[in-house]
Parts: sequence; C-alpha cells; structure tokens
Amino acid sequence: MLNGKTAVVTGAAKGIGKAVALAFAKKGCNIVLNYHSTLPDGVVSEIEACGVKCLPVKGNVADFGFAAQLVKDVKKEFGTLDVLVNNAGITRDMLLMRMSEEQFDQVINTNLKGTFNMVRHASSLMLKQRSGAIINMASVSGVTGNIGQANYAASKAGVIGLTKSAARELAQRGVTCNAIAPGFIETDMTDVLAEDIKKGMLESIPLKRYGQVEDIASAAVFLAENTYITGQVLNVDGGMVM
Ligand code: NAP
Repeated sequence: MLNGKTAVVTGAAKGIGKAVALAFAKKGCNIVLNYHSTLPDGVVSEIEACGVKCLPVKGNVADFGFAAQLVKDVKKEFGTLDVLVNNAGITRDMLLMRMSEEQFDQVINTNLKGTFNMVRHASSLMLKQRSGAIINMASVSGVTGNIGQANYAASKAGVIGLTKSAARELAQRGVTCNAIAPGFIETDMTDVLAEDIKKGMLESIPLKRYGQVEDIASAAVFLAENTYITGQVLNVDGGMVM
C-alpha cells in the first residue's frame, strides 16, 4: 500500500528520523530526506539500497519559505506527497526560573512552528490529491509536562493541539493527521542526559527498557498505512504514560 509512494521525513540525518526514513524505504516509498546541519556519509545510499529514490534536502523547518519550497520541490520531483513525518526537534532544557528567552524561542520555533510550516504547505497539496498521512513527533513531555522542559513540553503539547486541529480540517478530503508521543528513546538527544536522570527514567518505564528508534519507526509506518485513524496521539513509551 505504501509501495511507490513519496514520504517526506524532516530531521532525518540521524536518530528517530533516519530510522523512520529507512522504515518507509523498506515499504517501497521514495524518500525526501530533510536534514539541517550535516548529512553523514552513507545515509542516502543506505536508503537507496532498499530500491527506492532518496532526495536529500538541506534546510531549516522553522523557516516558512523553506517549507513552501520543499513541498514545491517534492511535487516537481515525485508528483505527489503521500506521507509527511514531522520529526525535526530540539531540546534546550533548563529550569523555568533560569530559562532564557532564547532557549524558549528556539524550541518553540523548531518544534512547533517547524511542524506548522510543514503541515501548512504539505496539506494544501494533500487536500488537492484527496489523500495523505501526516505524522507529527510529539513527546510524553507534551502530555505530562516535565521538570526542566517547560519550553519543550509546551512545544510538544502545541504539536498535539495542532495535530488534532489539522485532523479535523483535513478529514473531509481523506487526509489523516496523527501524533506519536515517544517516551525515552536511545538517541543523541537522550545521550546527553546525566546518568542519574537516565536511571530515574528507566525506573519509571513499566517495560523496564529504553525505547529504540525502530520502535518509533514501526509506529509511524502503522499510522501511515491505516487510513481510519486520525487525530490520535500514540504513546510509544514502554508504558510510561497510561
Ligand atoms: P536527534 O537525534 O537529536 O535528531 C533530531 C534531528 O532533528 C537532527 O537530525 C537535527 O539536525 C534535526 N533538526 C533539528 N533542528 C532542525 C531544524 N530546524 N530543521 C530541520 N531539522 C532539524 O533527536 P531524536 O531523539 O531522534 O528526536 C527526533 C524527534 O523525536 C524530535 O522531535 C524529538 O523531540 C522527538 N522525541 C524524542 C525522544 C527521545 O527520547 N529521543 C522522546 C520524545 C520525543 P541537526 O542535528 O543537524 O540540527
């Protein structure tokens, strides 16, 4: 069902985004791989080895104009945009009392405005096509809040509100929009956390293991394949939030 379709994945040079891009490539999707600063050698060839095309596009999702151009380029290159995974995200953790305006703005601009920018431009194409699946990367922090993450939790709660609003607006033309709320997934983002915080996290996970990028990638494929699920937040977190 995904074979021959086009999937755009933002922030896909590493971590969850790369795993998501690979999972869609294994399903036969051509991949538009957005990256921000650097694209490590071998990422594109790993995707192409699945027998699909891979178009790497460098740029910042927080830039409204970049998002518009990316969607235009996808249409020109592949004709359709069938799956959009808004994965690009950052953290700038700090206790609220010490958080700078810059730390707050950077996280909101990338995580929330970046998601808006991509949904805004991709959805107009999907509405014309009368099909498409949008998957936004939220976080359990956006559902429960988290100490030191007022900026990040606010951005991800915003992503959830955006997802549900988009789902309602786009449903009439058969376009779905869902969010995934990962728990603690082993990537560069969580690697920087102090050992005591990581240990505390592990204790709060009923399944008693950290998540892997493939756990999120398979959830993204599931949401893209199912055309009767929309407006939902799928927690993929080993049971942290239930
Ligand atoms: P990661 O390894 O740090 O990867 C994040 C990716 O996003 C990087 O490739 C980064 O590129 C890219 N990015 C950052 N700013 C961007 C921008 N303005 N435009 C385009 N790309 C940008 O993090 P991850 O753990 O894979 O996280 C992926 C997503 O899952 C994020 O939205 C994150 O909030 C969410 N998430 C992760 C966890 C977790 O436990 N890991 C939990 C909940 C939610 P550069 O490095 O080049 O800037």
